Amino acid sequence: MPTNIYNFGAGPAMLPVEVMKQAQAELVDFKGTGISVMETSHRAEKFSEVIHDARVNLCKLMGIGDDYEVLFLQGGASHQFAMLPMNLLADGETADYIDTGVWSQKAIKEIAMFGTANIVASSGDKKYSYIPDMTQCKFSQAASYVHYTSNNTIYGTQFHSIPKVGVPLISDMSSDIMCRPIDINAHGLIYAGSQKNIGPSGLALVIIKKDLIERSVRKVPTILSYATHANNGSLFNTPNTFAIYIVGLVAKWLQKLGGLEAMEQINQKKANLLYSAIDNSDGFYSGNAQKEARSIMNVTYRLPNEGLESKFVDEAESIGLKALKGHRISGGIRASIYNAMPVSGVEALVSFMDEFAKKNG
Ligand SMILES: *Cc1c(COP(=O)(O)O)cnc(C)c1O
Repeated sequence: MPTNIYNFGAGPAMLPVEVMKQAQAELVDFKGTGISVMETSHRAEKFSEVIHDARVNLCKLMGIGDDYEVLFLQGGASHQFAMLPMNLLADGETADYIDTGVWSQKAIKEIAMFGTANIVASSGDKKYSYIPDMTQCKFSQAASYVHYTSNNTIYGTQFHSIPKVGVPLISDMSSDIMCRPIDINAHGLIYAGSQKNIGPSGLALVIIKKDLIERSVRKVPTILSYATHANNGSLFNTPNTFAIYIVGLVAKWLQKLGGLEAMEQINQKKANLLYSAIDNSDGFYSGNAQKEARSIMNVTYRLPNEGLESKFVDEAESIGLKALKGHRISGGIRASIYNAMPVSGVEALVSFMDEFAKKNG
């Protein structure tokens, strides 16, 4: 077995080793209670502290003000695709969506039962290899909100500026939340499945402006209403307590590291290392994303042919560089280098890439 294993999988993805070690140390005896946090009632005082700390630390880390609620929901990001129009779009209303790939389209599909999606821009004409120019978008006059996917996990593209719109802006940040500082106040609602950058699967983090909660447009089942969860501090029913605990530890880990500015610098450094290796390979590796749209979370590239790509994936796996196979839709190689991926992991990948190109180029 190789001693250094680096997991480049897109999600569920790597978690910081320090976080997992702390969780391991506390697993069977949570803070002297003699039981695990997993076995603790979500109404118990010890868990109230966990969820309170997680919320407070996330607010500090991300600069979330009092005019927002932080919700810990279940059903992942996909649940939010539906919950969003169900709560915020009245019958017959329109919302603007920017189509930057499969995840955007899944969000768009869920709107059909409630209203109309107006696709204001799409990068589908070039296999989603770029981010559409926002100044060319035709936002509709009457849109209830505008939705964009900040990082496109499958294609390796990322918004590097926030769309400027006059209505509530909604973002699916599943694969880049907390990878860099962002302007929360530019958004009405941000959601993210936790399993890519901030924790284990089974949790959706929702940051919602309070006035949007009040704007809820239709009667929906109790459990599907944002107001229900906001009014009950995300404890309307039993939440994913263990995932909330881990996300809280990840927030503390990020704070210790120096916050999101520091995290962004490290992420940028990792991405630069990898993109330089691609750009300096005399065409052996070719990046999928157009340069100005390159993601600092998911780096996607191709080799000269599919035979070499599967050889690359297999050889990498054998030296502990795991899960580099691209998504089945786009093929090729995908290296997911989320917050928890250390610089040493990217350096190991880059040196493997250089050697592989020399041997097979
Ligand atoms: C993975 C992913 C999703 C789906 O997340 P689930 O939690 O599995 O529903 C949605 N959006 C983006 C951008 C993703 O990367």
